[in-house]
Amino acid sequence: MSKKIALATGNRHKLEEVRAILEPLGYEVLSSDDFGGLPDVEEDGLTFKENALKKARVCAKAWNCPVLADDTGLEVKALNGEPGVHSARYVAEHDFAANLKAVLEKMKGAADRSARFVTVLALVSPDGVEKTAEGEVRGTMATEPHGEGGFGYDPAFIPEGYDKTFGELPAAVKNSMSHRARALQNAIKDGII
Ligand code: IMP
Repeated sequence: MSKKIALATGNRHKLEEVRAILEPLGYEVLSSDDFGGLPDVEEDGLTFKENALKKARVCAKAWNCPVLADDTGLEVKALNGEPGVHSARYVAEHDFAANLKAVLEKMKGAADRSARFVTVLALVSPDGVEKTAEGEVRGTMATEPHGEGGFGYDPAFIPEGYDKTFGELPAAVKNSMSHRARALQNAIKDGII
């Protein structure tokens, strides 16, 4: 029998990735569509953990079941960790292309192009039990976007050990070693999901 997990996201790319990672392991990943929509949550926390917990808490209450939420961001060394928790609205609300362009413009001439993606997962049950897990992938930022795959900052992020961006690499490669995959692996290892 499959183990059901509800994912608190309106981002279909995240849903596809989490399904691609968890379904082969025997999980059924439910989405906001299975619960009549995603409640409004303002992601105003100062950390990924605060935001992930906030999303999971609101949905666990609204949907009356255990909910998994993911909060992710890109941290660029030359930009002192920006866009970080502001990744979704760095210069424009949920506009992937505009936010990526702004990051690359601000990085012009930067010798150190190192960066990392960080994901914090929160699992919250309706009776208030809260657990979190984290994953990261380190890499470098290309000078311009390459590839149509993935989403967000993927077209400019070259993961360590590769010479192509997440936008160019096949989804299966991203899903085998991404920040989100590692956070999910840690959550499974720690018995969180
Ligand atoms: P959130 O976790 O939905 O708040 O994600 C914040 C922002 O980080 C998104 O709007 C994307 O720009 C970016 N992001 C999240 N996950 C990924 C990813 O796997 N690849 C590239 N960008 C991502």
